[in-house]
Amino acid sequence: MADPAECTIKVVCRFRPLNSAEVARGDQYIPKFKGEDCVVIADKPYHFDRVFQSNTTQVQFYNAVAQKIVKDVLDGYNGTIFAYGQTSSGKTHTMEGKLHDPDMMGIIPRIVQDIFNYIYSMDENLEFHIKVSYFEIYLDKIKDLLDVSKTNLSVHEDKNRVPYVKGCTERFVCSPDEVMDAIDEGKNNRHVAVTNMNEHSSRSHSIFLINIKQENSQTEQKLTGKLYLVDLAGSEKVGKTGAEGTVLDEAKMINKSLSSLGNVISALAEGSTYVPYRDSKMTRILQDSLGGNCRTTMVICCSPSAFNDAETRSTLLFGQSVMPSSLKSITKKGGENVPVEEQFDKEKAKAEVQALDTATSNDKAAAPKPALNILPGVQLTGAETGKYEEEMAKLYKQMDDKDDEINQQSQLVEKLKEQMLDQEELLVSSRRDHDTLQTELNRLLAENEASKEEVKEVLQALEELAVNYDQKSQEVEDKAQEFEALSEELNEKSSSLASIDSELQKLKEMTNHQKKRVTEMMSSLLKDLAEIGIAVGSNDIKVTSFVSDMKSEVKTMVKRSKQLESTQAESSHKLEEAERELTACQLRISQHEAKIKSLTDCLQNVEHKKRQLEENVDSLNEEIVRIRAQEKVNAMEKETEIQSANEVKDAVEKQILFHRETHQKQISSLRDELDSKEKLITELQDLNQKIILEQETLKVELEKLKATDQEKSRQLQELTVMQDRREQARQDLKGLEETVARELQTLHNLRRLFVQDLATRLKKNANMDSEDTEGSAAQKQKISFLESNLEELTRVHKQLVRDNADLRCEIPKMEKRLRATAERVKALEAALKEAKENAARDRKRYQQEMERIKDTVKPKNMGRRASAVIAKPIRPGQLPGAPINLSVNRSNLIQNNQPKGGDNSS
Ligand code: ADP
Ligand code: MG
Repeated sequence: MADPAECTIKVVCRFRPLNSAEVARGDQYIPKFKGEDCVVIADKPYHFDRVFQSNTTQVQFYNAVAQKIVKDVLDGYNGTIFAYGQTSSGKTHTMEGKLHDPDMMGIIPRIVQDIFNYIYSMDENLEFHIKVSYFEIYLDKIKDLLDVSKTNLSVHEDKNRVPYVKGCTERFVCSPDEVMDAIDEGKNNRHVAVTNMNEHSSRSHSIFLINIKQENSQTEQKLTGKLYLVDLAGSEKVGKTGAEGTVLDEAKMINKSLSSLGNVISALAEGSTYVPYRDSKMTRILQDSLGGNCRTTMVICCSPSAFNDAETRSTLLFGQSVMPSSLKSITKKGGENVPVEEQFDKEKAKAEVQALDTATSNDKAAAPKPALNILPGVQLTGAETGKYEEEMAKLYKQMDDKDDEINQQSQLVEKLKEQMLDQEELLVSSRRDHDTLQTELNRLLAENEASKEEVKEVLQALEELAVNYDQKSQEVEDKAQEFEALSEELNEKSSSLASIDSELQKLKEMTNHQKKRVTEMMSSLLKDLAEIGIAVGSNDIKVTSFVSDMKSEVKTMVKRSKQLESTQAESSHKLEEAERELTACQLRISQHEAKIKSLTDCLQNVEHKKRQLEENVDSLNEEIVRIRAQEKVNAMEKETEIQSANEVKDAVEKQILFHRETHQKQISSLRDELDSKEKLITELQDLNQKIILEQETLKVELEKLKATDQEKSRQLQELTVMQDRREQARQDLKGLEETVARELQTLHNLRRLFVQDLATRLKKNANMDSEDTEGSAAQKQKISFLESNLEELTRVHKQLVRDNADLRCEIPKMEKRLRATAERVKALEAALKEAKENAARDRKRYQQEMERIKDTVKPKNMGRRASAVIAKPIRPGQLPGAPINLSVNRSNLIQNNQPKGGDNSS
């Protein structure tokens, strides 16, 4: 217990210096200090436990005001230090100062430092548990500054009926640095939570609590000390006008809590039995750390500027109102023995505060409530007091419960708000999702449309292709028919060829046969001829004539072939000549072209010269003009020398005339030259044209000649073939002739022999007369027989020759036919081949086209399947909104190995 003589409530006053703005404004420094405990403003003295002038340093102030409290708290006392005053009067400067500046730091960092210093110097058997809390009260709501999520804490009472802030963060600390860290953290959180820190701090109370528990391990003695360090809200009164809404609410709340505090402290100071702790949250929280056994220090912070005169006086009056008079504190336990003077002073101060309050604010809520047990004229018995106290405790309990409920409700509201924010966010995000999905959908629809278009196009292309295919197949059919017809024809032709071949074979055989027959006949004839011998000497004339006929025919043929050869030679000769002529013409043309070129160059040269001359003329004209001008000037200048000037002028004119004439002459001559050149050029061009024409005609002639040459060579070929054939015939005939000649020779020999024989026989006949008649008759018979026989032979021979000739005539015809047939067959074969090739090519092209279309269609379909989320295949002929056959879809999807099959089946 503290010494009762020692006052537990101390009120000190601290004036800050004029700040730079006030100095600059030239504000008057109004406080006058009298001794250590009195300040005089406007001749009115204000007494406090101590008054600190503006030049008091932080360390001086700490040593004088706070240092002792540290020791008391460590001894198990509770304590509270308040800083009261208008905004910017130095409250925060006093409590915190510059937290990490050794000179400028306020009382909180110094207390922290000192607490640990004391602990370090104390008994080893003592164990300390230090915990700190940091919260603020704004609009009567308790906010935890060490846990921003706790925004509305409630005040509860523990089993010893000691109020505490329920759920407030308590941080255990082991060093001054940890305490400073907690303070920094709390200050930071406060900064983060609000936009304007200055305004906010001036409208909220910030409370820093240091709780020190100590235990003596030997004696097991336990001690607990609590120290509240309170930076109060600005005490200034909100003006009559301009305050509304939150500002007015804040002002009311601040006024209420500050006046409650004032009431509580003055009640404590006066030793009243009733202290209205319950009037505000702050006084409830501080209940066990105010007055009585506690160390309570109120620092009244003041501005020295005349500008803040009224507020300073109000602040000083508040300080006086909470300050117990020394007499009163001495006679505290003595009850009613308060001197009238003191009493009077006290009442007077209160009245003055109220007067100032009403002068600056109409807020009646700030008026202190009358205490229940100090109502005048009411005397309560002990029983009644007990009853009342019980009643009050009940009511307080109810109030606590209500507080708790309110707190819970507000927490619920906060939670709901948070949830609402979450929901809103969710809503926004889902809206965004919806939007993106919508756009996606639109895009897909557009894609769908495009795909449909594509499909349409593809279908069209396919239709075209089908039509094309039909056409092609028709063509192929036609070709096949044609091919069939051609093959039929070919078959026919080959059969006819075969028949012709066989015919030819037959004919050849026949010819051979005939030849054989002829040779046989000839041999028989020869035999016969040998037999008839000399008897038929006159018969050979016929054969000779026949042979001569043949010879003449052969000769005519040879002649004709020679004629044809000569004509061919002639035509080739002509052709050569034409070619020679043509080359000569070409040579001439090239020569002419070269000439034209040179002439064009010449023309250009002439043109160039002409231009130069024209330029010359121009320059000369200019000179003339210049000279004329000069002349004029000369005439003006030298009017007196007109004569001489005239002469000069004449000379100049003459000169000019001469110049002009020469130029004109030159120009005309050049022009003449130019004309002649142009004429020459046109002539040459005409000549060139003519030559070109001639060349063209020559070319045409050459073509013609080439054509005739070809014709001639063809004829020649034909003729050569004919000639070959004729040669063959001639050789055949020659062989025949030779044989015939040989036969004739033999016949002739036979005849000679026959004649000789006949002559000898005749001689013999002359010798024997009668015997000969019979022999000659037989001979005559034999001769006639032979003659008839010969005649018959000759006829047969003739017939044979004719037949042979006929057959020979027929052979080239047949050969020609055969050749024609073969050619026809070849042509047909070629045509067939061509037709086949065409068909194959068409088919190939068609297939290629089909492949290409397939290729173009496939990747589009594939791409669409890969990117789309909803894999509904679009089928031709299906309406966009028509339901799709699911079984078809599924099978389609299975075919495509599409993993999104579930989308469609659901
Ligand atoms: P409040 O917290 O009452 O609104 P501050 O403590 O923030 O006021 O003080 C306002 C200004 O005056 C601060 O810049 C502070 O440094 C300065 N100040 C206050 N008291 C003093 C003093 N005793 N000595 C020097 N400067 C001071
Ligand atoms: Mg402040």
